[in-house]
Amino acid sequence: MEITEKTVKKSFAWPIFDETEVEAVAEVVRSGKWGNPDCGDLVEAFEKEFAAYCGSKYAISCVNGSVSLRLALIACGVKPGDEVIVPPYTFIATASTVIEANCVPVFVDIDPETYNISPAAIEAAITPRTKVIIPVHFGGQACDMDAIMDIAKRHNLRVIEDAAHAHGAEYKGKKLGAIGDVGSFSFQSSKNLTAGEGGIVVTDDDELYAMMHSLRNVGRIEGGQWYDHYNPGCNYRITQMQAVLLSAQLKRLEQQTLVRDANGLYLNQLLENIEGITPLKRGFGETRHCYHLYIIKYDKTHFNGLSKVEFVERLAAEGVPCFRGYPHPLYKQPLFQNKNFMCYAIPDYVDYSQVHCPVAEYACSDEGVWILQHGMLGTKEDMESFAEAILKVKREA
Ligand SMILES: *Cc1c(COP(=O)(O)O)cnc(C)c1O
Repeated sequence: MEITEKTVKKSFAWPIFDETEVEAVAEVVRSGKWGNPDCGDLVEAFEKEFAAYCGSKYAISCVNGSVSLRLALIACGVKPGDEVIVPPYTFIATASTVIEANCVPVFVDIDPETYNISPAAIEAAITPRTKVIIPVHFGGQACDMDAIMDIAKRHNLRVIEDAAHAHGAEYKGKKLGAIGDVGSFSFQSSKNLTAGEGGIVVTDDDELYAMMHSLRNVGRIEGGQWYDHYNPGCNYRITQMQAVLLSAQLKRLEQQTLVRDANGLYLNQLLENIEGITPLKRGFGETRHCYHLYIIKYDKTHFNGLSKVEFVERLAAEGVPCFRGYPHPLYKQPLFQNKNFMCYAIPDYVDYSQVHCPVAEYACSDEGVWILQHGMLGTKEDMESFAEAILKVKREA
C-alpha cells in the first residue's frame, strides 16, 4: 500500500504548560494546605483574578461547569415546573441541570448563520411559566446579547450565560459571562481554560453572589458558624491545587485567545472561495471570538455526496484536529424522549417527542463540522495546511 503523508504534519498539544504550573502545584502540595476553606486563600485569590478578568464584581468557583449552572439556577429562585429556555445544540449539561433544578427545559432553535440561540425563537417560546433564559455562546461566539437582555427585561426573566466555551471572548467590548445576571464557565479538560476539572460563576448581583456562595459551601452563610447550614447546598468546593493551576493558566489565556481569534479570521479568508465550505458568520457584535470551536457548515453536494461523517474522518486522517459534533439535538436524547426524570418534579404535560428544531437537526446530521481550539492555537501556516487538507479531501471526493 502506498504510504501517503498527512497534509497537516504537526500535532497540537493541550493543555499548554511548563514548570510554572508544575512548581505552583508542587508548592501547594508541600505546604500541606490542600483544601479550602480554612486552609488557605488561594481559591479566593483565583476567584478575584477571574472576576477582574471578566470585569465582574464576584466570582465563585465550584467543581465543574454543570454545578455552576445549577448554582446559578437555584440562586435565581426557580420553582418546580418553571420553564427555562435553552438551545438544543449544546452539551447536555445546559439542559440536564434544568431538570436537576426541577424545571422544564424548553428547547428553541438556533440561528443558521451562527449556531447560537435565536432571539426570535426565544420570544416565541415565552409562557407565563418562563423564568430563565440560558444562552450558550456556542464555540466561543457571542450570542445576540442586546436582543436577549431586551427580551429578558420586557418579560422579567433572568439570564444565565452558559460561557463554558467562551473564556476571554467579548461582545461589544464586554467579556462574555459578564453581561447576564450570571455567567457560568467550565474548566474541564477540553475547555479554553482548564485545571482538568472545575467551574465558576461570575455576577455583579450581591444577592445572587451570597446565595451561590452559600450553596457552594453546604449552605453556610458568611459570618455563620461551621455547623450552621441555612440553604440546600452541597460541598462543591475546589482544591487549592486546582486554584493555582487555574491562576497560572489564566495568565496564558489572553494571549491564547488573541491567537485563536486571529487564526479564525485568517482561516475564514482562506476558506472563502471553497464551494461547499462556509464558516459560521461573524459580525453580530462579537468584538472577540475565542474559537473554542471553529465551525464550518459542510455541504456534501459540492463534495460528490460524501457524507459529513466521512468528510470528517478524511479530514482527521489528514491531521486536522476536527470532530463531527453532537449526533443529535439534546431533545432527541433518551433522557428527554423517554422522560426519564426519576425523582425530579417535571410536569406530566411535558413531551419532547413533539419538539422539532430544524436548524439544530441539520447542523447535527449534515452540516456542522468542528475544528478544535488547540488546533486554532497553531501558526498561520497551520491554518493554510487546514485549508489545503480540505481541498485535498474535496479533490479526492
Ligand atoms: C463543558 C460544558 C458544560 C459543562 O461543563 P463540565 O465542567 O463538563 O460540567 C456546560 N455547557 C457547555 C456548553 C459545555 O460545553
